[in-house]
Amino acid sequence: MDASPASTAMAETIRQAAERLRHGGLVAFPTETVYGLGADATDDRAVAKIFKAKARPRFNPLIVHVLNQKAAAAIAEWTDLSEKLAAHFWPGPLTLILRRTPDCRISPLVSAGGTTVALRSPAHPLAGALLGMTDLPIAAPSANPAGKISPTTAAHVQAGLGDQVDMILDGGRCPVGVESTVLDLTADHPMLLRPGGLARADIEAVTGCKLSSDHQAETDTDNPIRSPGQLTSHYAPNRPVRLNAQDVASDEALLAFGPTPLQGAKITANLSKSGDLIEAAANLFAMMHQLDRPHVSGIAVMPIPAHGLGEAICDRLNRASSL
Ligand code: AMP
Ligand code: MG
Repeated sequence: MDASPASTAMAETIRQAAERLRHGGLVAFPTETVYGLGADATDDRAVAKIFKAKARPRFNPLIVHVLNQKAAAAIAEWTDLSEKLAAHFWPGPLTLILRRTPDCRISPLVSAGGTTVALRSPAHPLAGALLGMTDLPIAAPSANPAGKISPTTAAHVQAGLGDQVDMILDGGRCPVGVESTVLDLTADHPMLLRPGGLARADIEAVTGCKLSSDHQAETDTDNPIRSPGQLTSHYAPNRPVRLNAQDVASDEALLAFGPTPLQGAKITANLSKSGDLIEAAANLFAMMHQLDRPHVSGIAVMPIPAHGLGEAICDRLNRASSL
């Protein structure tokens, strides 16, 4: 084992980073593609902080980083094809979209309320060490403010998100420098959602068939999902949703916000009694599921401020109400 002072110092830094992650903090870390903004993927509140830090106007689903196939199979329905692809390309720049297992521990916010999850095992020694040390799945989008260029050095992260993160692990320049290739394995046929660090032809050589592709998605590489609300894999409530409710009927469910919830609903869930938007985002999808019951006529939603994380919360509720 390398016991040089430099490696001992790095081991101590990784231990601290793991500790931050275990306590719900945000840690930026290098992968072979770009720097990721990481949080414990099983912690709703920590995941909500990612969206706040990036100021994402929408809850795009996030990629979950795992150490290996075993960790992946504990989260998602692991198929013959996913096993074959992972055996060839993991660790590496290939993200697989798979179905969540029924008892999946990953925060619903990571999946934008849907039934699928994006998994990848990064090929970078620091990312691997961090995953090994935390023994957690780590949700991490690229560590840049929404709409800005993905960071390939720690200095880029510092410039864009320095005041938002608890810690930045500096692993030098990312060797690949473009995002991972995103492959959806939940349809009948594997579909390329985002071209990236692994070439289509390399994947096709292993699958033995041509990949279908979402051409619209490929022209918008930062956001391959045209609209998460349009995908069947994303959560859409069965009951009608009514926004900005000033009153509530006795046969309605109420999604409340703030210290003074409306009275008289059949069932009520409060996104945040204290009016905290991070807490509200963390609770959003689980509470929508909880209220979306056959015995209620609809879901009334109290007004939610449109600033900060409120913008993404309102975006998701607007989609739900216009279905
Ligand atoms: P980034 O957030 O920059 O790391 O990009 C991650 C990409 O993976 C985004 O474009 C997401 O839309 C996509 N992605 C993550 N999870 C899923 C999922 N469950 N289904 C489809 N695409 C996903
Ligand atoms: Mg990005």
